[in-house]
Amino acid sequence: MDILAHTMEKKIPFAVQINLTRRCNLRCIHCCVEKRDGERRIGKTPDHELNLEEINRILEQLAEAGCLVLTLSGGEVLLREDLIDIIRYARTLDFAVKVFTNGTLLGTKEIDAFQKLHLQEVHVSLYAANAKIHDGITGVPGSWEKTVKNIRQMREKGISVKIKCPVMRQNIKEYRKVYDLATDLGAGCAFDPVITMRDDGNKDTLNYRIAQEDLQMVLQDPVFYGGEKGERPENISCLITEIYDDVLCSAGHNICYISPEGEVNPCVQLPINSGNLRDHDFNWIWHNSPDMLNIRQMRMKNVHGCKNCDYLSWCARCPGLAYLEDGDLLGHSSAACWLAKAKGNKTLIGG
Ligand code: SF4
Ligand code: SF4
Repeated sequence: MDILAHTMEKKIPFAVQINLTRRCNLRCIHCCVEKRDGERRIGKTPDHELNLEEINRILEQLAEAGCLVLTLSGGEVLLREDLIDIIRYARTLDFAVKVFTNGTLLGTKEIDAFQKLHLQEVHVSLYAANAKIHDGITGVPGSWEKTVKNIRQMREKGISVKIKCPVMRQNIKEYRKVYDLATDLGAGCAFDPVITMRDDGNKDTLNYRIAQEDLQMVLQDPVFYGGEKGERPENISCLITEIYDDVLCSAGHNICYISPEGEVNPCVQLPINSGNLRDHDFNWIWHNSPDMLNIRQMRMKNVHGCKNCDYLSWCARCPGLAYLEDGDLLGHSSAACWLAKAKGNKTLIGG
């Protein structure tokens, strides 16, 4: 039995993402974390964030629950001054650690620590090979230069880096150049056309999604799937649904998400607060929370929004996006429909 099957069957939280902060030093136009402007964009003060002691306790509970892959993200995770202490403790507990960052705040100290602590991978957001276009998206002049310099330094130290490039109207002409830059830097590369709404319910970001005809075009481009490196974009298509077609997806079965304030959700894309780690330990929430148990018993046959859909075979429906964007976990997902139609039409046209 492979590890995914084993963890699905036994309900082991194989992969957990912890967002350590909502704060960020950039102002990316499409960011899903609250507002862009000033204080609100920065979010709750650090006093509300889990502190190092709380995080270390949670890491121990996750290790006990069988978690193997730990992703640390934000906001901008490098704004946590204790990030290296957190990673060090996670590594003593034998987690494979991934870090998601915008790459601008990495100094020699952090890059050396990443190397010594053998991170599994560092994912860095990069929107263009052109500094002006990238900085136009991040809202901070000079950010491209810092990010690219730090990717280069990490690669020189042998750290595995994956560039993540959301593809929007603003950078649709850049993605092939980002691929070439990633190749030059010796980094992996993954593109994602699915821009998500903000976590305060604002849907303005959806306007940045590329036009349907552009989507159809990029879906026919092997470079979009990582070219020779053959990497799949990290979009709403979660492979687990291809393996277990009776469950909605892996959310709450073998993955989950922990917010900067200690809320546990079934997935980063599925903001159903199933309990807070300041009130309960992880084991209790994972095995007893009514919300977690409810998600876990849902089956594909319960999805009522997709009856007689012509695009079903091209669809990688994400219940989280259906819930966020369309208000119904078991209904149709506009994002999935948009992607499935582009895939289906491409095939029907003979692409
Ligand atoms: S909620 Fe969406 S992103 Fe999360 S595991 Fe399910 S399909 Fe994937
Ligand atoms: S989400 Fe949309 S494309 Fe997917 S099966 Fe439902 S109606 Fe069809």
